Amino acid sequence: MVGNMKQPIVLVRCTKCEAHKPDTEFHKNNNSSNGLCCWCKECTNANSRRIRAELNTYFHPGEVYNKSTHRWDKVNVNF
Ligand SMILES: [Zn+2]
Repeated sequence: MVGNMKQPIVLVRCTKCEAHKPDTEFHKNNNSSNGLCCWCKECTNANSRRIRAELNTYFHPGEVYNKSTHRWDKVNVNF
C-alpha cells in the first residue's frame, strides 16, 4: 500500500501579481483567514525592497547611496 504523505498542493491567488501559486510560495500570516499572506513571497520581497529604497530617499534627502564607497553622497543640484 502506498501512503500519500504529501499534502495536496493548494493554489493561492496572489492579490498583487494575480498569479496562482502553491501555498508554499506565500508567507504565513496568522491574522488572515487562510493563514497566509495575500501577496506571494516574490511580491512581498519586491515590495520590501521598494519600501527600503523609499525610506532611504526619505531619510537621506538630496543624497544618493554610492555603492562603491558605501556612503551617502550629496547630490549637487545647481539651480
Ligand atoms: Zn505575487
